[in-house]
This record gives sequence, structure tokens and C-alpha cells, in this order.
Amino acid sequence: MLERIIDVQSECFELQQTNQRLLADAQAASARENALKEELQQIRDLAADFADNFEFRVTLMGSSYDQGEVAGAYLCANCAASGKKTFLHRAPPGSHYVCSAGLGHIQL
Ligand SMILES: [Zn+2]
Repeated sequence: MLERIIDVQSECFELQQTNQRLLADAQAASARENALKEELQQIRDLAADFADNFEFRVTLMGSSYDQGEVAGAYLCANCAASGKKTFLHRAPPGSHYVCSAGLGHIQL
């Protein structure tokens, strides 16, 4: 009878350890889920920003960019394609524009 009690106690101890491990796994999975939901929302917000405020265009020279609703606001199409919002800036003294991420020099 004593051996049976010891066996049951041993199994209970093992189950408690398993339970603690599963709880920790569940908490980690929940934290990861929340982080992914936040990341997904940021991607959706950025996609909506691109769709609502910018228009994809290609110059006669074959350079692509995103034209903003505000005159003179241009986005780098390469960055936009990879999910980043990077404004193009005029490179003095020339008339071409550069991406601050170094992904393009375009002639508008
Ligand atoms: Zn870029």
C-alpha cells in the first residue's frame, strides 16, 4: 500500500511539472500571438496608407515610385514593395531622387 501511495505521489509530481511547463508554453504562445497581431495591424495600417495616400507610377525612363497626394512627396517603390515607407529626397545638385535606404536613384 505504501508503495502505491509513493507511486501516485510521484506521478502527481510529474504531472505538476508537466502542467507548469504547459502553462509556460501557453503564456509564451499568447505573447507571441499578441506580438504577431500587432505586427499584422501595422502591416494593414501601412497597406491602407499606401492605398489611400499614394499611387504607383512609372516614369518614361522606367523608374518606379509612389506619388503622394501632397505635391512633391514621393515614396521609394522598392522600399514600398518590401513593406517600408521611405520618402525619396532630391539629391543636390542633380534632379534625381534618392532613397534614404539606398535602394534607388530615380529620375522624375
Ligand atoms: Zn528605398
